Amino acid sequence: MAKTYRARWIVPVNGKPLENGFLRTDKGKVTELTTSVAAGESVIDLGDIALVPGLVNAHTHLEFSELTQPVGNPEQSFDHWISAVVGYRRSQLQNDSALLKQAIRSGISESQEDGVLALGEITTNGELLPAYQASTACLVSLREVINFSADRIEEVTQDTRDYVLQAQSAGVKAGISPHAPYTVHQKQLTELCRLSRELECVCAMHLAETKEECELITERSGPLREMLNRIGMWDDSAITLNSSLTEYVESLATSWRAIIVHGNYLDRDTIQYIGNAGDRLSVCYCPRTHHYFGHDPYPLEEMLAQGVRVCLGTDSRASNPNLALTGEVALVRTQFPQVDAQELLKMVTMHAAYALGIEQSHGFIGPGAVSDLLAVELEQSVQSLSVELLLTQLPDARLVSL
Ligand SMILES: [Zn+2]
Repeated sequence: MAKTYRARWIVPVNGKPLENGFLRTDKGKVTELTTSVAAGESVIDLGDIALVPGLVNAHTHLEFSELTQPVGNPEQSFDHWISAVVGYRRSQLQNDSALLKQAIRSGISESQEDGVLALGEITTNGELLPAYQASTACLVSLREVINFSADRIEEVTQDTRDYVLQAQSAGVKAGISPHAPYTVHQKQLTELCRLSRELECVCAMHLAETKEECELITERSGPLREMLNRIGMWDDSAITLNSSLTEYVESLATSWRAIIVHGNYLDRDTIQYIGNAGDRLSVCYCPRTHHYFGHDPYPLEEMLAQGVRVCLGTDSRASNPNLALTGEVALVRTQFPQVDAQELLKMVTMHAAYALGIEQSHGFIGPGAVSDLLAVELEQSVQSLSVELLLTQLPDARLVSL
């Protein structure tokens, strides 16, 4: 049934906040945003609150949501952390997919309690589809691809294609996630980007996450090369001689839309390239994971100066104490107090929604948007709306279905 609501403030994010705004909804969607209604029209007054879009977590791995603390410790080297994560994943799989499904459910409810309505979820197991289907959150299931072998490219591409089509026909939004340069053959990456274009689905890749990864790409050596040798996975054709981060980014730019996850060690030229390809490329910064590993300072301001669309993600509980996206916002505010609050709000709403290809329904308030929104309580005495204050109060926001 169509309804009309009034709120002290409505913050559409893609436009100016509306004071004493009205919102019309019908069948779970917003149909109109307006500053006046006809005399005598029935209006539900929501009082002294600010309505904000539900948050969007651009990157997570829900399968680790049952962890009570991160895997390993931040002092150990990255290749050892990866080995610990793989060990945990194997132990989980030795049981059955019921445990994994339980982790997905608990990750989703933890996210919703924090005001997150949509997530970019990395999927390693096709059996999780029913858990995604049952979810009341909007999940974009990005099928993880690990293949360093030239011989398996065609087969792996076909399997990925099958998964995306199967998920889509089951009503689950889906895309592709070539895992990282140390697990994906460069030609496999090219094929997956082509698939992303063909199916018009998102492609997300962990990139420029560690110095070790950069060393592997440019020198084909270092701890990750040793790890790949150790486990018999190194393929001499997987990374071309004299390769570079830019080469990977150029490949990703051939996708329909791509997310560069982390980007901790992106250099100036590559950042500029990403800014210029903003219709396709976004960067997902995972602040608390970045902090957990003690990386060099994040190039956030440089990215913003170059017009890069930055969104935020929690990554997983393997490197984060919890899945609260508001915790990521709080850390960015502490570490980058000079970053504009409105820009920061966009990183967890409209920018993340665009990166995940769900910008028609999530990350803003306006016609076509879902009418599940966040209500932030305001002090009655507040005369003007401060986005800084809104960000501070986000963790206490209530999810309302209008
Ligand atoms: Zn990740």
